[in-house]
Amino acid sequence: MLVTNHVLSGAVVAALCPGPVSAFTAGVVSHFLLDTVPHWGDVEFDEMVPIGVRDGLVGLAAMTLVHGATPPGRRLRVLAGMSGAAFPDLDKPALLFFGRSPFPRAWDDFHVSIQRESRDRMTQEFLVGGAFLAAALVAVRRR
Ligand SMILES: [Zn+2]
Repeated sequence: MLVTNHVLSGAVVAALCPGPVSAFTAGVVSHFLLDTVPHWGDVEFDEMVPIGVRDGLVGLAAMTLVHGATPPGRRLRVLAGMSGAAFPDLDKPALLFFGRSPFPRAWDDFHVSIQRESRDRMTQEFLVGGAFLAAALVAVRRR
């Protein structure tokens, strides 16, 4: 799944959490749950890199947008949720820039084993991203 969609879902999850630690933890859990849902992927690393770089930049822009739309008293919690949701995908830039994952082998094996990827699902990623963006912008401002 695109990291942008993980980031946006992390904001939604964070809005339901009492504080930043639970928000970060729930964000990580949300990442693995969403990776079990069928999503775009199953492409070679070299084919994924240009898409992943764009996705990473859009994900950072999404974090900035949602952070700015969040009332100041909730920003740390929402930022923690978005960061936790993106955290498991740090293996991708680490592989690109340093040639290795920062996570233990068992963590990476588990992460790979739960993927349900198809290269035919990019349209779905955009639709899911739009829905998560709308949900995040509502959730972070909800009383
Ligand atoms: Zn993942």
